[in-house]
Formats: sequence, C-alpha cells, structure tokens
Amino acid sequence: MSEALMSTYARVDLAFERGEGPYLYTADGRRYLDFGSGIAVTALGHSHPHLVRAIQEQAAKLWHVSNLFRSPEQEKLASRLVANSFADKAFFCNSGAEANEGAVKIARKYFASKGQPEKWRIITFEGCFHGRTLAMLAATNNKKYLEGFGEKVNGFDQVPLDLAALKAAITGETAAVMIEPIQGEGGIRTVEPEMMRAIRKLCDDKGLLLILDEIQTGMGRTGKLFAHEWSGITPDIMSLAKGLGGGFPVGAVLATEEAASGMAPGTHGTTFGGNIMAMVAANAVLDVMLEPGFFDGVQTRASYFKQQLTMLADRYPDIVEEIRGQGFLMALKCKPLNSDVAAAMREEHLLGVLAGDNTVRLMPPLTIPEKDLAEGVNRLEAACQRLRAAGKAGAAA
Ligand SMILES: *Cc1c(COP(=O)(O)O)cnc(C)c1O
Repeated sequence: MSEALMSTYARVDLAFERGEGPYLYTADGRRYLDFGSGIAVTALGHSHPHLVRAIQEQAAKLWHVSNLFRSPEQEKLASRLVANSFADKAFFCNSGAEANEGAVKIARKYFASKGQPEKWRIITFEGCFHGRTLAMLAATNNKKYLEGFGEKVNGFDQVPLDLAALKAAITGETAAVMIEPIQGEGGIRTVEPEMMRAIRKLCDDKGLLLILDEIQTGMGRTGKLFAHEWSGITPDIMSLAKGLGGGFPVGAVLATEEAASGMAPGTHGTTFGGNIMAMVAANAVLDVMLEPGFFDGVQTRASYFKQQLTMLADRYPDIVEEIRGQGFLMALKCKPLNSDVAAAMREEHLLGVLAGDNTVRLMPPLTIPEKDLAEGVNRLEAACQRLRAAGKAGAAA
C-alpha cells in the first residue's frame, strides 16, 4: 500500500475496479458480494443505470457555480426532501459530520435569536457516533477518538441511553437532544420506539429541540425513508448524508421552519455544499426511492433477510450471539472477534463492515434481489464453517 497515504485507516488489502448492483470486481476479475455498501452509502448498489445517466448528462453541462447564485438543482432536492419529511427547510453540505455541525449551529442559533443565548448545550448518548470534526468528537465523546487532540470542545453533555439520566442532565443551558434512531457505529443498537416517543415528549415538555442524526439510518436504510417514521415521532432538526447521494458525497440538514428561524443570510455556509453534481446524484436517488412500492419491496426483502439470518444464528450459536437491526441495517453480534468474522466472510467473497460492541454490519443495497440475499447468507454460512474449522468459534465469548 502506498507510503504516500497518511496512515489514518487500517485498510484491507483489496482494491476494486468496478461494481454492478450488489457486486464489486477487482481488476483481476474476482467478484465480491458487497454487504458493506461503502459504509451504508451506495443505497442503490453500484452503477445504477439511472444514477450513471444522470451524472453523465450533468457532467457534460455544468459542475459547480457556488452558493452565490440560485441553484435549481438545490431547490428541486430541497422541495422533494421537504415534501417527503417533517421538514420545511433544507441546507446542503458535503458530509455527515458537517451536517451534524450544521444541526448543532441551527439549534444554538434558534435560542440565541429568541433572546436565550445561554441555551447552547447539546445532550448526546453513550455509544453514539456523530463524526470526526472537533465538535463532533466532543458530541461522540469516545475516548479513543478524542485522545491526542487537545481539550475537548465544550458544549456537549453525554448520558446513558436512559430517560431518568436524560432528565437529570437537562439544565437551563440545554438547547437540544441529539440522537441516532439506531446507533450505527456503536453496534446497531436500536432505540426502542417507546423511548423515541418519551424523548420527544421530554423535549416538548422542557422546550428543547430534538436533533435526529439519520446519517446512517436515513434514506431508506431501515425500510422507510427515515428511521424515525417507525416510531411515529418527528424531530425538529435532522442530519442526512451517507445514502443521500447513492455514492456521491453529499450531506443535508433538514429542519422545521421554527427550528431554522434563526438562520439568516450569513449565519452558515459552505463552498462545495449543494454542488450541482451532488444535487443531481441525490435527485436521481430520490427518483428511484420515491417510485410507488419501493419501500414495500425493501421491507419484504429485508424481512426475508432477517429470517434467514435468524435461522443462521440458530445453526451457529458459537459464532452469532445475536441478530440486530432493521431493514437493511443489520448486524451480527459475534462470539469470535468481529474482525475474525469479517475476515472469514472476505475469504468467502462477502463484505461487511465492523462496528462497536463486537458486531459486523450487513448493509446490502436496498435494491438487492432476494437471490443475492440468499447467496450472501450461503457465504455467511461458509464463513461460519471456516471459523469453526479454524478453531475460532466461540473465541470471544
Ligand atoms: C457516518 C456517520 C457520521 C459521520 O459522517 P461522515 O460523512 O463520515 O462525516 C455521523 N453520524 C452517523 C450516525 C454516521 O453513521
């Protein structure tokens, strides 16, 4: 691997040349079934013909004009996201961490513009992941990520995922509560719908804003456009990224008119955010997802997948401790080391993504046909047998 690359990642020694649907191909023609989707990014699989065409056509016309001018592509995407969500307003950026930064700024400005600048602190939850910028490191509050980067940014308070703890942490300085409906990097830990409703109610009672980080759970990952739809609540502010551009880098912050009321011209901005290519990609993703029946199809195939995984877990209790997740945001809680499980899967040409709590995430594209899900489960079974043969079953238990 290149000496010229900064060594920030523990990369797998594999490179891909092209992709098609749920499959990735190396330059020498080896084929991998991709249940990682570039960390829940390629929501419609690789080389989706509608996305390819949209990007190719736009590439020949115009790439970038900045936010100094009107953007019909931004206006189109914003109005579609608004029409299909709780939100009234959208702001576009380039990544997840940046979307969360925007969400926090919107919440703070809301109170400042209402004459309550003392309300600026954000409550987050243990096991969360909100990104790697300096402020999002503080929000995430993971020792491993914070170490060596100086004093932690102030303004974030973290509590266990527990209503009493949340209540106790609220002070006169609290502006908002920020939460992932399912903790992704933390190990696919679902916040139960009753808990989501209780948090919403608490925010209402205390006059706090609710920020949902749907960077990983959004854009259909759980079988609905946004994961919070399963609990029937709506946030005041929501961050999106990962699946939004289907593989093109783009993030967004959505908010109600009220929550966004402090955001006057000059309060926030970005050079690249809302770039035309990114908007075209995200609009093309929505073209596909908003087709009637799309999410019904996702839910049907996802429940087949879950059923198959559950049966596999029953056959290999020495490998799989638990099946977690919803829709196509699934994970195996592993008995052996999760990295050993992922390595055995790779030997079977199946890709997953490691997450916290000794899990391996399985996040196939939302478009994956049932036969390829079955193929994935077969490869997973072969990986389990491989682990048993290697004497690694049950190792971490
Ligand atoms: C990936 C992720 C982020 C960070 O997104 P980046 O694009 O890597 O900055 C934030 N929150 C959640 C829930 C994520 O899954």
